[in-house]
Amino acid sequence: VVDVPVSELALNPERGGPKNLPIARVLVDDDESEGKGTCKHKPKLVILGCGWGSVAILKTLQADQYHVTVVSPSNYFLFTPFLPSATVGTLELRSLVEPIRTILTRIRGHFLQAEAESVDFSEKLVEVSQVIDGEKRHFYLPYDKLIIGVGSKTNTHGVEGLEHCQFLKTIDDARKIRKKAIGNFEKAVLPTTSDEERRRLLSFVICGGGPTGIEFAAEIYDMLNEDLIRHYPRILRNEVSVHVIQSRSHILNTYDEALSMYAEDRFARDHVEVYTNARVQEVKHDKIVFSEKTQDGKVVTKEIPYGLCLWSTGVSQTDFAKNLATKLDKQTNKHALETDTHLRLIGAPMGDVYAIGDCSTVQYNLAQNIMTFLREIAWEKGKDPKEVHLTFKDWQTVAQRVKKRFPQAGQHLRRLDKLFQQYDVDKSGTLDFNEFSELLSEIDNNLTSLPATAQRAHQQGQYLARKLNKLAQVAPGMRANGLLDGDLDETFYKAFEYKHLGSLAYVGNAAVFDVQGYNFAGGIAAVYLWRSAYFAQSVSLRTRFLLFMDWAKRALFGRDMMDL
Ligand code: FAD
Repeated sequence: VVDVPVSELALNPERGGPKNLPIARVLVDDDESEGKGTCKHKPKLVILGCGWGSVAILKTLQADQYHVTVVSPSNYFLFTPFLPSATVGTLELRSLVEPIRTILTRIRGHFLQAEAESVDFSEKLVEVSQVIDGEKRHFYLPYDKLIIGVGSKTNTHGVEGLEHCQFLKTIDDARKIRKKAIGNFEKAVLPTTSDEERRRLLSFVICGGGPTGIEFAAEIYDMLNEDLIRHYPRILRNEVSVHVIQSRSHILNTYDEALSMYAEDRFARDHVEVYTNARVQEVKHDKIVFSEKTQDGKVVTKEIPYGLCLWSTGVSQTDFAKNLATKLDKQTNKHALETDTHLRLIGAPMGDVYAIGDCSTVQYNLAQNIMTFLREIAWEKGKDPKEVHLTFKDWQTVAQRVKKRFPQAGQHLRRLDKLFQQYDVDKSGTLDFNEFSELLSEIDNNLTSLPATAQRAHQQGQYLARKLNKLAQVAPGMRANGLLDGDLDETFYKAFEYKHLGSLAYVGNAAVFDVQGYNFAGGIAAVYLWRSAYFAQSVSLRTRFLLFMDWAKRALFGRDMMDL
């Protein structure tokens, strides 16, 4: 194996595994193995996917500790927060991506443009497939450690007619939307287009009032105001319409209520029509049918003709992740692969397999976590928790700390807020610790999970890479004093703790921030802050340069209105 000049992956002539497929092996770099004598014993680390979680690993992992192989159907990392800006040409598609091979250079990892199909956990083999000239070829990739970071797919909620919709998850989706939007403008100005048809072509419907849908609506609105009139003087501004259909009572419902209201007011002012408590029933080729619950509780059915419909209503499991979950008895969650707090895949051999990012979920018992924070408050007051009387202010401090760690817990906390106020508090306006634990039992069985965001995937990737760096030092070859792999995580490293740094959203020449429990919304200054926050997180100097050039180009010459 060692007499080849460079480290590379090759297919072993032998076949094996349960399906008797060819097995890939790592051919070791000659110099390295001679020089350090450790290369042959480096564990094989296989990473599935090259999104936010995986790239955070690759950027944090120390070089030369593992034989790293990344498997992904896309050979680039996509900076998703700016994807809505690329649909209308505010930013160019190229500026949002970074070649994965560039990222892998530092740690001398391998990349396979292929798809993981399945995992044989007992044999430690990933079944991989590649399509070449229409023929699908399968092989096995062996691993010592496997990290699953395959992301998610768009949730269809079982609605019919989604083949007429656009999605916004990949670079190809953004390209299709841009082509379709500009194509519709061109059709709208043809002399053969009737007035009714023109209004339909210029109607943009967004299903889903989360950050992606809202940012897309905002980008469309900006384009209409900044470039449309200049390039298409025959189109009247009031012939163009933007509609958002949201199933909850507010848009941006995971943000603080004040920010949702700000975004709604802003949209109302900008004539972006928002339907709340509304559910899409069917998407037809030219119109969308949905039901809306009115303020007096009646449900009415409505229709909106559209020229472009974006479907952006949350995420669901990829087929690969679903397949893995069915193989593991202990996986009970239908939406994501469950891990423990060390990010180990539940049900897989301990310490061999981790799952991070959108494809995974870590569930926490909210009540237990609240009690831990309450104890902290008691100790800060220099008292035994059992003797402490809690004021509403104490509770708010606790709620603030909980929210920072579990941003998804908002609705439970709001319920507790109300309970705390309604509770029969004594005259001093306090509640004793035991009474409070009773109150908590109301939500005792409520588990909370972490949000499916780039922020979480990034933190999990960094955590895992730091842990793997540490394990490579304390347990080279992944054995220490007879401990098995699975025990190493807990012996040598802490559990993962999520730190919610905040949520941002662009709402059309304005932005909203929900950062560390503080809310902020505003116009152009906030927009620059929003841009800077993401600009700073951009993965390379190359992408920063390209982003800067795109913004400068747009400011000087406007957007390119071409369906390239
Ligand atoms: P992803 O980044 O989705 O990467 C998954 C990777 O797995 C991809 O490379 C994919 O090709 C690969 N893959 C898929 N199947 C397989 C397979 N079978 N085998 C091998 N590889 C596979 N989050 C924020 O925090 N802030 C934002 O502003 C924000 N804006 C967003 C805007 C848009 C338009 C979208 C779509 C998402 C946004 N998100 C945002 C969410 C964020 O992008 C995701 O939470 C994040 O990408 C999850 O990272 P991940 O590593 O789990 O998966």
